[in-house]
Amino acid sequence: MANFRSVDEDFFDDLEETLIGADVGAQTAMQLTDELRDEVKLQNAKSKQDVSKVIVDKLVDLYRSQGVNEDASMHFAPEGPTVILLVGVNGVGKTTTIGKLSAYYKNAGKKVVLAAADTFRAGATEQLVAWGERNDIPVVTGSSKADPASVVFDGVKTAIDTQADILFVDTAGRLQNNVNLMQELSKMKRIITRELPNEPQEVLLTLDATTGQNAVQQAKLFKDSTDVTGIVLTKLDGTAKGGIILPIRNELHLPVKWVGLGEKVTDIQPFEANDFAKSLFGSLLTESE
Ligand code: GDP
Ligand code: MG
Repeated sequence: MANFRSVDEDFFDDLEETLIGADVGAQTAMQLTDELRDEVKLQNAKSKQDVSKVIVDKLVDLYRSQGVNEDASMHFAPEGPTVILLVGVNGVGKTTTIGKLSAYYKNAGKKVVLAAADTFRAGATEQLVAWGERNDIPVVTGSSKADPASVVFDGVKTAIDTQADILFVDTAGRLQNNVNLMQELSKMKRIITRELPNEPQEVLLTLDATTGQNAVQQAKLFKDSTDVTGIVLTKLDGTAKGGIILPIRNELHLPVKWVGLGEKVTDIQPFEANDFAKSLFGSLLTESE
């Protein structure tokens, strides 16, 4: 807490301001600061370390209180391939996340296949193929402008035939209000369910942490039109706005399963509330210099 003068009223004002700056939302920032003020008094926290611990605990509580009974783990079929779809608007990091996660699971001993079902954007297939080559993982592709559902079908077939454990499906960045694209997503899901009726599927909504409140809006619309099973929050490395996790949690009750922390293949981690609280708080400290 080197950068905060002392634990006085100014300290709490600074804290509230920096929480707002970190995108936790104005109301949450106020509520959190009030609770912290009480808690610090109650626990008679005087040292900077004490206070820092109270703040981190409070953030973790706040995160967890919105997700009681929530399951943030990834689900895998006991046998046969598990399909993991990445959805989200353009540029949030879907393809990059597949590159990272496919390497993560391959290293964990899983057999992985990728399907390049973003046939909409020029270069999207090549981007996924490049990740496949880098990680030595097969990629199922279709021609440009092919029906994405047909690529999904081929991907599922390849995954079954080659006895893969996981099929990652890259999808087109769709505008959340574009009815056609949403229908396309449903069609993909129908095809997967038809071929693999009893398997769990993961639908990971990818959100860019740097887009702030806009990410919450996207999440709402996607949640309304697809069965999102979890969130990947990307680009947390480039922003002090990781606090956006709290409004996402408060308003959507969707678990954040992964966080993206850079562009490299290893820059991904399972979300952990305690680490998140610490890193958010860390950025608050450096910001308040
Ligand atoms: P898509 O359109 O959703 O598939 O997004 P891409 O995977 O193509 O990513 C868009 C851009 O964001 C690329 O330049 C990626 O390298 C970058 N990117 C993705 N994830 C991260 C991340 O966690 N941190 C940073 N700094 N950049 C990222
Ligand atoms: Mg992409």
